[in-house]
Formats: sequence, structure tokens, C-alpha cells
Amino acid sequence: MIKELQLRVSIREEKKEGILDIKAASFLGIDKKEINAVKILRKSIDARKKLIMFNYKVAVYIQELPPETSDYKFDYKDVSSAKEIHIIGFGPAGMYAALRCIELGYKPIVLERGKDVQNRRRDLKAINQDHFVNEDSNYCFGEGGAGTYSDGKLYTRSLKRGDVRRIFENLVYHGATDQILVDAHPHIGTNKLPKVVTNIRETILKYGGEVHFETKVVDFVVIDKKIKAIHLKNGAEMTVNAVILATGHSARDVYELLHDKNIALKAKSFAMGVRVEHPQQIIDSIQYHCQDERNELLPAAAYSLVHQVKDRGVYSFCMCPGGFIVPAATANGEVVVNGMSPSKRNNEFANSGIVVEIDVEKDIPKYNDFGVLKGLEFQKDLEKLAFNAGGRSQVAPAQRLTDFVEGRLSNDLNPTSYQPGLKSAPLHSLLPKMIGGRLRKGFAAFGQKMNGFYTDQANVIGVESRTSSPVNIPRKENLSHPEVEGLYPCGEGGGYAGGIISAAMDGERCAEAAIENL
Ligand SMILES: Cc1cc2nc3c(=O)[nH]c(=O)nc-3n(C[C@H](O)[C@H](O)[C@H](O)COP(=O)(O)OP(=O)(O)OC[C@H]3O[C@@H](n4cnc5c(N)ncnc54)[C@H](O)[C@@H]3O)c2cc1C
Repeated sequence: MIKELQLRVSIREEKKEGILDIKAASFLGIDKKEINAVKILRKSIDARKKLIMFNYKVAVYIQELPPETSDYKFDYKDVSSAKEIHIIGFGPAGMYAALRCIELGYKPIVLERGKDVQNRRRDLKAINQDHFVNEDSNYCFGEGGAGTYSDGKLYTRSLKRGDVRRIFENLVYHGATDQILVDAHPHIGTNKLPKVVTNIRETILKYGGEVHFETKVVDFVVIDKKIKAIHLKNGAEMTVNAVILATGHSARDVYELLHDKNIALKAKSFAMGVRVEHPQQIIDSIQYHCQDERNELLPAAAYSLVHQVKDRGVYSFCMCPGGFIVPAATANGEVVVNGMSPSKRNNEFANSGIVVEIDVEKDIPKYNDFGVLKGLEFQKDLEKLAFNAGGRSQVAPAQRLTDFVEGRLSNDLNPTSYQPGLKSAPLHSLLPKMIGGRLRKGFAAFGQKMNGFYTDQANVIGVESRTSSPVNIPRKENLSHPEVEGLYPCGEGGGYAGGIISAAMDGERCAEAAIENL
């Protein structure tokens, strides 16, 4: 017999060996010996009160053994001589599109402008230390896409769009910890992601798919409203049956190419702002109600904040407890910040994007001349502004949080995890008012919601501009572009995903659609 239960365990009890068996037996009024196993289905932390509790959802196996294998099987076929599907981009969307093609008996040919994870590291070092951005290999471009040197948080709100569990199980199949299957806020960590991504590539190659690095797609050949071929930067042409376009939201040249070819695009609303960085200890003490260090059983604390200011949401985005702020620019001449954390989340800082919703139809009239690319141009300008304010390198402009809100330049800044360094700059007056003004009000409100958040020990760092795509590449019901049969806009770049899991799910859907429509 299997019984599902909710159990609550205090921090003191958590340390006790076999506590879940003891609690389950007592709850069910049975002898502990009758329980063969207690399998954790979900684990979360309830830190609303001073006495912090762990909430468990468990399956109790009474006089019965739990199954040894997962319900999810990945039946990869030899596709070496199967019909081809071309996939542009090897981020989460492209990787999961390729894996799905193999399951369905089709050969994925993946074309990725960046390098494999190993070689990509050198270019990340160059950004951090020499302030040089390789425009094809950086925190956004290369094997695994923006997902590899990302934070690896696996939350998604797209529960209705597909089988989220399937993606999680597949990540575990490729080497991620099975803890992600139970944690309420699953996280892999930037140190573990490269191995998972490499394993995914190896599966693709083992079953006969192809992955080509440093292979940039620069043009599409469309004849009679159907995609027929693609051109590579090295001059080669490839004939194609179907193309999954999974190039992410930082591939501005792809949007520009489509626009130049008169292939329909739409402007899309998005969000922009800054990244705020606190000592992790401050966030821990607020969230866990503790004076000093957090309890060793507790992970670095996170937060999620939202406030409405003048009809626009101001909210925390991609919060990274125990993490680092990284330079996520994809070209020289721009500064873009983002965040990541290692699996242990043991760095001394907590950072989060704090961003403002931008209604692309109402908020940036000055950019209307750019048509569907107006959001993109606005984004570019803000990144250039950050580059100039930081001193024309990857040094980012920053201000103490209290100085930003109260409108004065900071004489000095707090320590930071951002490797290229910070320069004091008057972000409060540099940012467009519709962003800066709302952020200042939002931060003040967050200080009311989280006592201690509003502090001069935090820095505000600019700019957090790549939250989601400012452009949507339309698709019709069969997921193909309405004007180009066989071209499947996919993942975050198409405007169909907002993170690793939703991008992976969209990759699977596009692969299924491309195959069905062949
Ligand atoms: C620092 C950082 C931290 C993040 N943290 C998280 C997190 O914790 N959780 C989360 O869910 N999300 C996070 N994200 C966002 C997440 O990484 C993206 O949502 C996700 O990677 C989008 O997947 P995608 O496959 O659609 O596109 P991408 O991952 O952007 O992949 C697109 C790929 O296409 C390639 N490409 C582009 N143009 C071409 C071309 N012309 N020819 C060939 N290849 C091309 C690029 O090189 C890239 O590899 C983070 C992002 C960053 C940068």
C-alpha cells in the first residue's frame, strides 16, 4: 500500500536520522517496521514564523517496495541516416528540440555560433578580466546558450504548456541531481550545468545527430513562402527540410536579418531595470529572523518582491541567493548585468534584477520610427548608456541603494561580486524617468515589505536589460512562421519562453510540430 502524506519537520527534528519514517508511522498509527520506504515527493521551507519548518510531501510504502526506476523513459533511436531537421541555436530550446527529434526518429543538425562549454570558458575570462566581449562566445552564446553559465534555477510558470516533469527527469538523466525532482525551488547551479549540457551533446552525437560549433547562420533562402536553405558565415549553403530557429533573445542580428528580409515580426513588451546586490547575511537575517549566521540546514535565503508604480509592475527577477553578478553583454560597447550562483549558493552576496514593465506600445514613443524593432533599439540605448557611465569598459555603473532612491551620487560603493568592477554613477538621473523613477519608488516600497532590505549596504548596478525578448517572431497554429512554411520560431528568442524550462518545453513542441508538418 502507498500513502501520500504532508509532514512538517522543525529544524531541530530535521537533524534526527529517520525522522520522516518516525513521523509517518506516528501519523498513520502504525509500527515503523511496517514501512519499507518513505519517498520524498516535494520539500519546501516555511520561514514565515520564527520557528522555521520544513514541509514534506511524501509517499509512504507500507509492506511494499518503491519502484526502482522512474516512470519516464527516453527512447533514443539511431537517427544517423534519418530525415534531417535543422536547428539553429544550442540553448535549452535547441538542445531539447534535438533530443525530441531523436526520440521521434529524425536526425537533428544543430548549428551553434558559439563554442563548446570548455572553450567558452576562455571567452568568459576575457570578458571579466580584459573587458573584451567575443560577439559569438560569451555568457549568452555558446554550447547550452544562456542556460549554461546561468543560475540554473528551474522555476517555471508555464505548467500548462507541457510536461514540466519530463524536462526535469531528462535533466536528471543527463546528470543533474535528482534533488531537483523534489525541491519546491529547484536549482542546478552554474558549476554543475556545463556537465549536464555536455552530456546532452554526447547523447545527440551518440544517436547519430550532429552538433556544429562556431557555425553561425547568416541568411535564409525562402522560395514560394517556404524555407529551402540556410547560409552559414563560412560561405556554405545547407539545403533544409525544416528549420527550428532557437537563437535566443540576444541574437539581435537574427531579428535584423528577418526584418531586412521583410519576414514579419512584432514588437513585444518586456522589462528593464537594474540589479541590486546585498550581503547575503542581510537577506538571511530578514527571511530567517536571525541575528547572525543562518542555521546550517538552511539554504541561502531568497526573496520575491513586486510593487505597482504608476500602472507598471516593478518586480524582482532572477534572484540569485549566494550568487555572483556577471557581465552578460553580447557585444563590445554595451554593459548588461545578470546573475548566477553555484550549486551550494555559498557566495557572500545575494543579487536580483529589479525591473520595470515596459509597455512597448505606450512607453517609448521616441522609438516609434524603428517599428517592430523599437523595443530592441531602446534596449540597445540603455546598454550603451551603462557602458558610457561605467567608463567605456565592462565596469558597470553603480550606486548605493539608499543614494539611488534619495537621488545623490555615492562617494564610495559597497564590495561586490561583479568581477569587472563598479564605478559610482548617478543612475537615479541617468536612467529614463519611467524606469528610474519607478525603481526608486519600488525600492522604497520593498523596504517597507522587507524590513532591512532598504539599506546603504546594498548596491544598485546597471543595467538589467535582457529579461525577455523585446521582439516576437510570430507563428501560426502549426507553429510555423505565418509567412515562411518550415521555419519554426522557438524558445525565448521567438518570445515563447522565459527561462530554461519553458525554453526546453518549447523546443520539444517545435520539434514535434516540425516533424508532423514535414
Ligand atoms: C547569467 C544568466 C542567468 C540566468 N539564470 C537563469 C535561471 O536561473 N533560470 C532560468 O530559467 N533562466 C535563466 N536565465 C535565462 C535562460 O538562460 C534563458 O531563458 C534560456 O537560456 C533561453 O533558452 P533559448 O534556448 O531559447 O535561448 P538561448 O539560451 O539564448 O540560446 C540561443 C543560442 O542560439 C545561438 N545563436 C544565436 N544566433 C545564432 C546564429 N545566427 N547561428 C547559430 N547560432 C546562433 C546562441 O549562441 C545561443 O547559444 C539566465 C540567463 C543568463 C544570461
